Amino acid sequence: MALRFYNTLTQQVEVFAPLHENVVRMYTCGPTVYNFAHIGNLRTFTFEDILRRWLRARGYRLDHVMNITDVEDRIIKLSAAAHKSIYDYTAIYTEAFLEDMATLRLERPERMVKATDHIHEMVAAIEKLDERGYTYRSDGSVYYRIANFPGYGKLSHNDFSGIRAGARVDVDEYDKADARDFVLWKAQKDGEPGWETPLGAGRPGWHIECSVMAMKYLGETLDIHAGGVDLIFPHHENEIAQSEAITGKPFARYWLHSEHLIVEGQKMAKSLGNFFTLRDLLEKGYAPEAVRYLLASVPYRKKLNFTFDGLKAAATAIDRLRNYKLRLETAKFAEGANEKIEQRTAAAIGAFDEALDEDLNTAEALAAAFEYIRDTNTAMDSGEFRAGNVPGALEFLDRFDAVFDVLRSTASAGSLSDSEVDALIGERTAAKKARNFARADEIRANLAGHGIVLEDTKDGVRWKRS
Ligand code: AMP
Ligand code: ZN
Repeated sequence: MALRFYNTLTQQVEVFAPLHENVVRMYTCGPTVYNFAHIGNLRTFTFEDILRRWLRARGYRLDHVMNITDVEDRIIKLSAAAHKSIYDYTAIYTEAFLEDMATLRLERPERMVKATDHIHEMVAAIEKLDERGYTYRSDGSVYYRIANFPGYGKLSHNDFSGIRAGARVDVDEYDKADARDFVLWKAQKDGEPGWETPLGAGRPGWHIECSVMAMKYLGETLDIHAGGVDLIFPHHENEIAQSEAITGKPFARYWLHSEHLIVEGQKMAKSLGNFFTLRDLLEKGYAPEAVRYLLASVPYRKKLNFTFDGLKAAATAIDRLRNYKLRLETAKFAEGANEKIEQRTAAAIGAFDEALDEDLNTAEALAAAFEYIRDTNTAMDSGEFRAGNVPGALEFLDRFDAVFDVLRSTASAGSLSDSEVDALIGERTAAKKARNFARADEIRANLAGHGIVLEDTKDGVRWKRS
């Protein structure tokens, strides 16, 4: 067993091991909090959650830092339009992001840190770059001279040897393959928020915050740095140029990038107007677990084509998993344990682990689970599955759910409508008549899970919400 990841830096799948004992020091680029996150963003954050959980399942401890970008061009524009300070404006969307994370069951990184809490450390880093000859000034702003950093392009594997020296950009996003000197410190413009610092009044460019916060909390060389593929260039390339120019050491050992979520062939993006937020999907009646399942189900290095059919299929898959668990917990099996089933369980766990070890192949991990469920359901129907096989099966589900986390229902108790309850009770009565007591018990347990208590009386079944 070895855990392997595709490393964007080397363009190879490599065996993973942290630098220091069993603690993984990981940095992931967090949201820019000028609006609600769309499910494309959340795909990337879900991948990072799966990564966290699998590292832990493999015995590692985590020290994971995620930044919140709470000062940049769009934030400044939109907060001014809303007549709010950048703090008041970004607080709204930071809160919304934390809520979305909780709804999607994304674990909180050990540290979530804000750019605006690190302005002076960023200034100090820029001063160091200045001392080492990587910067120049123009109109009060400070730029990074990429021609002075020989490794520029090593992450995105672009050849920038023909770059136009001195061409530069102030904006945080620019065209692929058109490398330019990027801004480290932006001189304050009229009416814009800014900080008084030895570099002059102004604010940091976007890239410097990640170099500074990553190294402050995790040290000069990180184990893992992750984000969406759109961050490879220029953002992560620039983070490397900044950090390595300061320390002379490799900035991150493994670079993991998740592919985009797309809609009809196009990247889901606010600028394209083709996006859904998590809230949009919940309003349409989809459960958060279905969204989580869908986002996790496609291996992170493959594009994920978002469709409502896909979302419905995710909900159906979760139902199958839950019904299976309910059957394990409520059905009556013959005594003893079937050795063949025990072997089947061990094989399923092995296949599941192997799939996730191999660069987090979530699709194969899910396939391992569903094949196991199909086989053992058949064994239950034929009586080969015994009571002694239940603990192994439940253990596998636990292992599954420690990563996918979809078995528990978010729906609050009593969320079934009266007519849904009546329909299920009708089905239970019919099952009992047909002497299918397993199904009848299953329905009773299902209703209990929704906080519905049944009472069999001589006049029929009465029920109430607990
Ligand atoms: P932002 O809030 O724009 O800084 O983006 C937050 C994260 O979402 C970054 O890691 C991006 O790479 C990622 N991201 C943006 N759009 C998509 C998309 N359509 N699919 C997957 N990830 C995305
Ligand atoms: Zn970043």
